[in-house]
Amino acid sequence: MIAPDPDSPLAEAFLSSPNHGERRGFARPDSVILHYTGMATGDAALARLRDPGSELSSHYFVTEDGAILQLVPESRRAWHAGAGIWKRERDLNSASIGVEIVNPGHDGGLPPFPRAQIEAVIALCRDIARRHAIRAERILAHSDVAPARKRDPGERFPWDVLARAGVGHWVDPAPIEAAAAFGRGREGPQIRSLQALLALYGYGVEVSGVYDRATEIVVTAFQRHFRPAKVDGEPDSSTVATLRALVEGLQR
Ligand SMILES: [Zn+2]
Repeated sequence: MIAPDPDSPLAEAFLSSPNHGERRGFARPDSVILHYTGMATGDAALARLRDPGSELSSHYFVTEDGAILQLVPESRRAWHAGAGIWKRERDLNSASIGVEIVNPGHDGGLPPFPRAQIEAVIALCRDIARRHAIRAERILAHSDVAPARKRDPGERFPWDVLARAGVGHWVDPAPIEAAAAFGRGREGPQIRSLQALLALYGYGVEVSGVYDRATEIVVTAFQRHFRPAKVDGEPDSSTVATLRALVEGLQR
């Protein structure tokens, strides 16, 4: 079978993965989900994403030196997100384009993402967002949509650099202060308000008013993306202020 031409002019080659299906309920994607590969080498990750036995794939694959490969046509549903939720949508593979970024991840010591790789991710996201009219706040981390299972692309991923290049939604994190946090097990209107803001932004969290383990996990995911200097699951004043500023800045 001859591979199709890449959908993105930035992709150097189309290396087909057999792991995809029909998009269900989405004529076109409305979001981009960013991942790290989390394996020792890029070659091993690429082989896995093209192995029929893995049942895993992504639309794009970005190497450490910034080469972009396409594995699945954008019109098809790639298998990268798994179980998750964002803005009440659960079939995130049907709703999104998946981008795997070569990096060994937390288990490999979370090394920094090379500059050339980040520049390629920026260019690719801009291209995808323009062609599909994807909103800035729909450029997401895998950990945003699957916070209980996933940590990628991780707190070393430079979302601030992407934002300065016009990719993704970002506000500078509010300063971290030594203010008292309301931690796990606490309950009340402050916690209900925090959960409501998280849910409004898109996270899958129950607005219960109780700071339970599930809420702590979502707050950790929020920090990993938006307040990466301190990822501890504590809803401190900086976390809440940063979230509030993001919600206020949502496109209407
Ligand atoms: Zn992932």
